[in-house]
Amino acid sequence: MKCGVYVHIPFCRAKCDYCSFYSIPFDPRSADSKDLLTTYINRIVDEIVSFATIHDNCTIDTIYFGGGTPSLVDAAHLSAILATIRNAFQVTDECEITIECNPEDCTFETISSLVDIGANRITLGVQNVFSSFRSHIGRASNADVMRALEIFFSVDGFIRCVDYIVGIPGQTGILLRNELRYIIQYSPQHISAYLFTVEPGSPYHVRHTAPIDFDDTQLSLFDEAIDMFSAFEYTQYEISNFARDGFQSRHNSKYWNWEPYLGFGAGAHSFFNGIRWHNPTDVFGYINAAESILDNRSIGHQKAEYVLCVLRRSDGLSFQNFSSTFHTCIPDHMMNAIDRHCSMGTLERRHKEGDSTIRLTRAGIHVMDSVVYDLTEGFL
Ligand code: SF4
Repeated sequence: MKCGVYVHIPFCRAKCDYCSFYSIPFDPRSADSKDLLTTYINRIVDEIVSFATIHDNCTIDTIYFGGGTPSLVDAAHLSAILATIRNAFQVTDECEITIECNPEDCTFETISSLVDIGANRITLGVQNVFSSFRSHIGRASNADVMRALEIFFSVDGFIRCVDYIVGIPGQTGILLRNELRYIIQYSPQHISAYLFTVEPGSPYHVRHTAPIDFDDTQLSLFDEAIDMFSAFEYTQYEISNFARDGFQSRHNSKYWNWEPYLGFGAGAHSFFNGIRWHNPTDVFGYINAAESILDNRSIGHQKAEYVLCVLRRSDGLSFQNFSSTFHTCIPDHMMNAIDRHCSMGTLERRHKEGDSTIRLTRAGIHVMDSVVYDLTEGFL
């Protein structure tokens, strides 16, 4: 069975004010941090080996190191994990191997070492180019992003991806276009653009009250970003992901396509043989835990989640694929909601080669949560 592997590295130099992901502080100069990291990496290696002992029929075609901050970790540690995966499973020759990198770790040596250990795709977490935005949202890193971009694009031998945050309060259309132009001049093959979200309870949330027109402004900025990417030949293949031809993320597409993946490390999720499970989120809980946690979902919840995932893709939802996945046709309550949203202009329906597909329109992307809710509430 073809399968992706996700490896979670939940360590960060410091916590960014807006971030709601679990991560723990890591100081590369501290012996305690280094010891903890070594224990953690060893635990991941053990987890991979134990899983492969029972399931030896997986062929791995994508590997993704995410975080947290994977680029904080010595390349030798990441290489040890890659070697374990290669020994434990069959790994395809053209396996996509992605590593996330923070701008402050982006030196010529670091990027070269990631390429040397086998990374063929690196994602630079630019988030914003201008330092005023970065300090406004309490981004822990005060890296010189312009310098990081210069270095990132001076190393050869991998697919260059950039992460960007749209809609930080204070951003205007002109500032957005200036930042995107600055990034696009380097011609990354892939750009992920996420709307800035304020997580309740985060330090940023405590410090700031969102402006009254925050949502509308964000959506119009996101529309501007989509138009700009399109003008520079980036195709929106998923709501937040834009790629030049042939450079879509094969690993992340597995999540949206409902394909199997294995997650290793604290808090990592897996979906394999139709079963979902996850590891304890807490690093120490993960290191000491014998068991992962089974994620039992009713068939209704599975259908709802399927709709949510596949509708994020520009290909949308195929009726045939829904039927072959769940061995049942699309039920009446969902068909009625589809008809309603098609007439409202938030969904569009197409017929091709005996199949029907639905996909979100631009207006539908703006209200995606309510479209998905209407389509799936009968499942829940
Ligand atoms: S570096 Fe990324 S994962 Fe770490 S705290 Fe900042 S936003 Fe969160």
